[in-house]
Amino acid sequence: MNGMLQQPVSVLNGIGDEKEKELHGLRIHSIADLLEHFPFRYDNHEVLPIAELRHDDRVTIAGTIQSEASVRYMGKKKSRMTVRMAVENILVTAVFFNRAFLKNKLKHGEMVTITGKWDKHRLRITVQDFQQGAPDPSKQLEPVYPAGGSVTVKQLQRHVNSALHNYAPYIEETLPQSILTKYKLPARADAFFYIHQPKTKEQLKHARRRLVYEELLLFQLKMQAFKRAERMASSGTSHHFSAEKVKTFMQELPFTLTGAQNRVIEEVLRDMRDPLKMNRLLQGDVGSGKTVVASIAMYAACIGGSQSALMVPTEILAEQHQQSLRQLFSGTEVTVELLTGSTKGKRRGEINTRIQSGEADIVIGTHALIQEDVHFHKLGLVITDEQHRFGVNQRRILRDKGYEPDVLFMTATPIPRTLAISVFGDMDVSMIDELPAGRKPIETHWAKHDMFERVLAFIRKEINKGRQAYVICPLIEESDKLDVQNAIDVHAQLQSYFTSLPVGLMHGRLPAEEKETVMEDFAKARTKVLVSTTVVEVGVNVPNATIMVIYDADRFGLAQLHQLRGRVGRGEHQSYCILLSDPKSETGKERMRIMQETEDGFKISERDLELRGPGDFFGRKQSGLPDFKIADVVHDYRALETARQDAADLMKSEAFWSNDEYAYLRQFLKDTGALAGEKLD
Ligand code: ADP
Ligand code: MG
Repeated sequence: MNGMLQQPVSVLNGIGDEKEKELHGLRIHSIADLLEHFPFRYDNHEVLPIAELRHDDRVTIAGTIQSEASVRYMGKKKSRMTVRMAVENILVTAVFFNRAFLKNKLKHGEMVTITGKWDKHRLRITVQDFQQGAPDPSKQLEPVYPAGGSVTVKQLQRHVNSALHNYAPYIEETLPQSILTKYKLPARADAFFYIHQPKTKEQLKHARRRLVYEELLLFQLKMQAFKRAERMASSGTSHHFSAEKVKTFMQELPFTLTGAQNRVIEEVLRDMRDPLKMNRLLQGDVGSGKTVVASIAMYAACIGGSQSALMVPTEILAEQHQQSLRQLFSGTEVTVELLTGSTKGKRRGEINTRIQSGEADIVIGTHALIQEDVHFHKLGLVITDEQHRFGVNQRRILRDKGYEPDVLFMTATPIPRTLAISVFGDMDVSMIDELPAGRKPIETHWAKHDMFERVLAFIRKEINKGRQAYVICPLIEESDKLDVQNAIDVHAQLQSYFTSLPVGLMHGRLPAEEKETVMEDFAKARTKVLVSTTVVEVGVNVPNATIMVIYDADRFGLAQLHQLRGRVGRGEHQSYCILLSDPKSETGKERMRIMQETEDGFKISERDLELRGPGDFFGRKQSGLPDFKIADVVHDYRALETARQDAADLMKSEAFWSNDEYAYLRQFLKDTGALAGEKLD
């Protein structure tokens, strides 16, 4: 962007040191940042006929003052002022709280415009916003900005206004005229005026269309440039393994692979043989058998002479994978090591030595594995489980360490295919869309919390049949500490109910060894019920457990509920999922209904995406989804598709690489480093 716009916001009037710091908190540093601090909604100050105003709505009315304002003081700073005004010949009362200072502006016979809460029965408005004079039609749509700290929406409106008026001449066009013409998009500078100070809804729509398209086009160009650079620069690993030997290994598995598993394995092995770097996303519903696919890939890597790293999100999962892989590879020469945060001291040293010498074929760890001081002899394959996206950082770390491994990402939160292709445009996608034969559908029930006693009785019955149960604890928003306390409380409650039966307790704050013991006790059926926070969400596999009880189920996202439910139904016995919930919101109820209706992870995730939007769907922190300033990959899906296609066409065209029209876009790509394949965000 233009240098003038890169100046700090403090160049604007009314932004001193204090205010500037506060603005940094909103990620506003430069004038450009301020201009790109888009409203998240607009308050509509359209003046409607009184008859159309709804009770308790925030409305705007205009009328003439008909009385002297009367003020009543209630203590030092508190006051209540009322005035009568005529609106369409109807007498309305306006009530001002703590704004007695406005008294001399309320002159008999003068026109005023008021926004506030409407009381339909008393014909009364509680004033939030007051203006002298008739309504200004150009201010009907008031922008509401994300605010925070001591920065108010009103201040942001002022600052944006001052930035617009002083710096608009420096806003440069980024898109070529041909595209503006083709899609009838407004010029960039105009779009900024329209988005911040729309005079009509049409203007707003117009501006949004342009800014969304621009953002998505830049994103797609970056993604595609990155993918191209990766492919061209890639000195990936060519795995030389005996296909015959891999086949034998597959035939000796204790079960027959599903058609989908076979297909996906073929795709993965093809990528591995190929000298280009594999960058593949493997999607498959919970229990669809992704781990086996991963094992076969790691087996191929091993007999081809290179090491594999399997990275998982939690230590519990790492341990569990270690056990199942050791079992799977017991008849082979493959060695499996576990390296997590709790592998300490001498043992850690020994394992490190084996990794460095190449003695260790497969290393399982948490996602921190590659970030630590671990050196592989020859790392040829990295598999990440349950992570949507392998971070750019991780890729860079690998490269800095001199590794160019093939990478496979596995996820059980199925990303609707359409979205996967558009958003994860730099990856290939494989899909396991078939469950192993003989799986019984899980019965899902929705119960109110006051039925908990009956649920407990049901658990007891199942335990008497030899089964086990999970009880997932009430969820407290964003508070790990309170969640843990809940788990402890529920555990105590259940232990006193089941008296002689041992009840396990699992949560994230237990020391690693204790977690291991708790999991082991449950896996070996020494404990019958496991009370847990959501730490058991992913990957845990105890086939004898047949009941999953989830407290406050409506508070969880669908994808998470589906994951939790996937902990049961893994063995031969009929399994049950009981959703305890008294949902307050409509979407909460809707989630409960969807869970009862379907077990198809893809359907669930599509609904989830619709209900929650992409931000929540992917989880804000590790989504790998770009932080779009204005675009929304669900609502703007069509624009995303268009941008994707346009980006591909542009990059293929001669003109893009030479014409002046595209100078800005080329410079943008250069600046992001995408052309050199350096980074993605
Ligand atoms: P995911 O990781 O996709 O959730 P897993 O790989 O953990 O699934 O597999 C779930 C269970 O199903 C495991 O116990 C695994 O041994 C078993 N399994 C995997 N593939 C098959 C198959 N083709 N037939 C029968 N059982 C299978
Ligand atoms: Mg798994």
